[in-house]
Amino acid sequence: ADARAETMKTEPAFLPNGTRVDIMINVASPDDLKGISPEICDGIGLVRSEFLFEPGRPLPDEEAQYAAYVAIAAWADGRPVTIRTLDAGGDKPIPGVTSDGESNPFLGLRGLRLSLARPETFRVQLRALARASLHHEIRIMLPMVTVPGELAEASALLDEVVATLIAEGTPCRRPPLGIMVEVPAAALGALRFPADFYSIGSNDLTQYTMAAARDIADVAGLNDAGDPAVLELMARTVGAGKARKVPVSICGDAAGELRLVPKLIGVGLTCLSVPPALVGAVKAAIADLKHV
Ligand code: PEP
Ligand code: MG
Repeated sequence: ADARAETMKTEPAFLPNGTRVDIMINVASPDDLKGISPEICDGIGLVRSEFLFEPGRPLPDEEAQYAAYVAIAAWADGRPVTIRTLDAGGDKPIPGVTSDGESNPFLGLRGLRLSLARPETFRVQLRALARASLHHEIRIMLPMVTVPGELAEASALLDEVVATLIAEGTPCRRPPLGIMVEVPAAALGALRFPADFYSIGSNDLTQYTMAAARDIADVAGLNDAGDPAVLELMARTVGAGKARKVPVSICGDAAGELRLVPKLIGVGLTCLSVPPALVGAVKAAIADLKHV
């Protein structure tokens, strides 16, 4: 099976009915790309930008971020690169950035909530992203979006940042702005978010739907992305994407769980973003599908 996955790695994936399934990769740091050919994927579906905000280090400045984003996009060689803005908090505390002492950090100031509460920090990231987008297919993705007003606020900030860059004479472009769908409220209300794309974060969507934390082993049995309730929220998100004619993908760990691949295809997903090491196995699992 390993040999088959290895040979399939660089081939495009198709469903039995001929539909192309885009397989993208998730990267947590530029190191993840070392020794990997971009030919194994149709793009990068998730860059977890937290790697830039390392504990004990000063916050990365605009130039450091710009260089990191350009380096990742250059690797992708023209393929789309989805860079998620800082997703600190919850299971990703960053000393000096996230707030201490929350009784339940998963329900606290995390993800986009935190970025909107720290506009000086958020602006630096948006500036670096708008500049890096000039020569690369970069898309900005917002984590932990819960209500449309948050997307509106981030979108307005991006407009402001781009206008400032243009006024300064700094070359830039306003990249597409999409949202992670990882809070049940966002999945249920996906149609009401004027996002340029949706990407399902099954890790958080599952824990919030099943009320079972992703990091508590005792409730791991309940933390199942294949539960019908979670699949229903995914199906709704796919439906919203179709209705609004914008792309929908999934970048949570469920996309790389081979037993779940048929279910994800079943809810209508045609873009899966997985860790680079799982690309071949996921393509093989898609090739094995008998129906669809
Ligand atoms: C998710 O929640 O599924 C996701 C992709 O984001 P993270 O695991 O980084 O929270
Ligand atoms: Mg998440």
